[in-house]
Amino acid sequence: PPYPIRLRGKVCKGFGRGGKDLGCPTANLPDDNAGVQAMRGKVDTGVFYGFARVIPPTQLDPDDSDLNSSSNLDPNSSLSPLSPTSYLVYPMVMSLGLNPFYKNSDLTAEIHILHQFDNDFYNFDIKVLVLGYIRPELDYVSREALVQDIDIDKIVARRCLEREAYTAFSRDRFFWE
Ligand code: ADP
Ligand code: MG
Repeated sequence: PPYPIRLRGKVCKGFGRGGKDLGCPTANLPDDNAGVQAMRGKVDTGVFYGFARVIPPTQLDPDDSDLNSSSNLDPNSSLSPLSPTSYLVYPMVMSLGLNPFYKNSDLTAEIHILHQFDNDFYNFDIKVLVLGYIRPELDYVSREALVQDIDIDKIVARRCLEREAYTAFSRDRFFWE
């Protein structure tokens, strides 16, 4: 069985369309993420559920100009871009689709974490544990229909993840190593 699938990568900028104004921001993994591309052939495209954790930046990385502008990167500091609870493991829904801008075999992954964050976390690392499949991708005739389905996905994800066999995965060592 393909699950659990472990993904790790840097949260990158998407096209900013839809996400936040639909009440559903999705953290994008880079298109060349090895874990995401390795899902090809193992699972269908569509919507998945699982757990995710945003990783606090611990050291200055010369590529992270956004992060470096913050003078104190200690997650427990009031100057940190995210509050300490933001670094816990939370339920998530992930959409896995075909990238329309590259060879059509390229996959894109977008993760919506079921937690209210106090700030964006672009360029932060994220760890994702994919545990199951909810539904295939659908074409939506209206924005309302899409929003409705996303709301159902969130409910399905929460329900599934409440089962003991799944809650155990929220304590997976993967999130903390
Ligand atoms: P983009 O097209 O750049 O991905 P989005 O509207 O999808 O724009 O917003 C995604 C960004 O929102 C993430 O990269 C992250 O920094 C931020 N964000 C805030 N809250 C969440 C959340 N609950 N789940 C995912 N991303 C979130
Ligand atoms: Mg997005």
